[in-house]
Amino acid sequence: MQKHALLYTGKAKSVYETDTADHLILVFRDDTSAFDGKKVEQLARKGRVNNRFNAFIMQKLAEAGIPTHFERLLTPDEVLVKRLSMIPVECVIRNYAAGSLCRRLGVTEGRELTPPTFELFYKDDALGDPMVNESLSVSLGWATAEQLAQMKALTYQVNDVLKPLFAAGGMLLVDFKLEFGLFQGQVVLGDEFSPDGCRLWDAETRKKLDKDRFRQGLGGVVEAYEEVAHRLGVDLSGI
Ligand code: C5P
Repeated sequence: MQKHALLYTGKAKSVYETDTADHLILVFRDDTSAFDGKKVEQLARKGRVNNRFNAFIMQKLAEAGIPTHFERLLTPDEVLVKRLSMIPVECVIRNYAAGSLCRRLGVTEGRELTPPTFELFYKDDALGDPMVNESLSVSLGWATAEQLAQMKALTYQVNDVLKPLFAAGGMLLVDFKLEFGLFQGQVVLGDEFSPDGCRLWDAETRKKLDKDRFRQGLGGVVEAYEEVAHRLGVDLSGI
């Protein structure tokens, strides 16, 4: 499968057309961004680590019956995916309080949320990805009520699969963000799952092993991502 025209350059990935109308190639770059693109740095190896990591997670989710866009790894930094029509609404599940939830409601970081919470955000950097709800998402034409219900159910299913997976590696899945799109009318998981888009803490020490290391200038960002990969048994050889 060959890369053709560059379709879109995101903050961490570039998207190319391919030989077929139904597929795209994603290139995972080393660019790492935070605060809606206001802080950007190149972190060596990050793209390759995330490409392998995402492939591992997407395959686990597919095995659990969750439809994903993942097809196959092509090169250390490239993956072949189904071409989705993306829904501009981000789905977030939180198992523990962190990040914008703490800022918004004054909740102490690390407080367990029982049951886990589900939130929607409108994907728009210029607006700072504002929080929205299902009603607005339907009225503004971003998705149908049925699609939103499927996205919510799938996001909870992802949590049910990944929480124990990370727990087995001695980690807490604090929260994560998913993006969905439509493929032949079906709601399918798109984008990526990597430490760029979730929060992971060591279960004992609560050491942060995710992009908060970059956001908060803690250093050792890619080293932490590699540690997470090793704990899960993700194959990072040859990259
Ligand atoms: O910032 P906030 O606490 O709302 O983020 C919740 C989760 O969603 C975090 O894991 C964060 O990394 C992820 N997220 C993301 N992309 C965004 C916003 C949040 O991956 N644009």
